[in-house]
Amino acid sequence: MKIKVLESKPTYMKFIIEETDPATANAIRRALVADIPKMAIEDVEFHLGPIRGEDGKEYESIAPLFDEIIAHRLGLIPLPTDLKLFVRKSECKACNGEGCPSCTIIYSLNKKGPCTVTSGDLEPIGDVKLKPIDQNIPIVKLGEGQAMLVYATAVLGTAKEHAKWQVTSGVGYKYYPVVDIDNRKMTPAKAPVEVCPVKILHVRDKKVVVEEEEKCTLCMTCVEKFDPGSINVHGDPSRMIFHFETDGSMSASEALNTALDLLEKRFTDIAGKADTLSV
Ligand SMILES: [Zn+2]
Repeated sequence: MKIKVLESKPTYMKFIIEETDPATANAIRRALVADIPKMAIEDVEFHLGPIRGEDGKEYESIAPLFDEIIAHRLGLIPLPTDLKLFVRKSECKACNGEGCPSCTIIYSLNKKGPCTVTSGDLEPIGDVKLKPIDQNIPIVKLGEGQAMLVYATAVLGTAKEHAKWQVTSGVGYKYYPVVDIDNRKMTPAKAPVEVCPVKILHVRDKKVVVEEEEKCTLCMTCVEKFDPGSINVHGDPSRMIFHFETDGSMSASEALNTALDLLEKRFTDIAGKADTLSV
């Protein structure tokens, strides 16, 4: 299997997988969607009762939304995740699952109204690098005299448990399109190249040619409109064009490498177990 990167941005990646098959491509897709661990807020503790401001003013610890809705919104905020730094809380040897800096991040949020509370108001206790990546996600609007004092704990999880732990979105692939043109079976000057919705067919030197073949969507409009047998379009199941993006909790290349490592480990484990079976 070979991977050729077509486009790589911090949170987006498009690449071609060669010498593969649909089952392998689908295994990579599923690993990207559901298996990559990331940090997300799991426990939220709300302070109840009056909160005194620095100016001596007293605020009520209430908000226009139910605590459950606020906690849900906090859970969905993408948090920076370095998988080298954290382990799952249930597997943490340092604290035996009690919660420690190796398996949890604790955030505090202390805001007084009137204001809009945003993801940028979450302050990590410890390393400032753990602040949410996007600072402008609105959570709740506080009115006059309202305040929020919250402690939130983030832990590692995967999208199999809850969508808030999903790193990637828009994960998809398609067969690599192959466009074969036989200029002998048509009159290039009269060929309706403009019917192609993605505009990859052109007349060059009195011949119909295809440029940027990978943009073809396999819509078959050209096959219907051109002279019969002059153009043949099909998808190659041994080559896939793959694309996905991440929510920013980790880079696209990091997400892909993690997904491939997880798949490798899973298949090595299965192979190891199969070896122990007696025939
Ligand atoms: Zn721990």
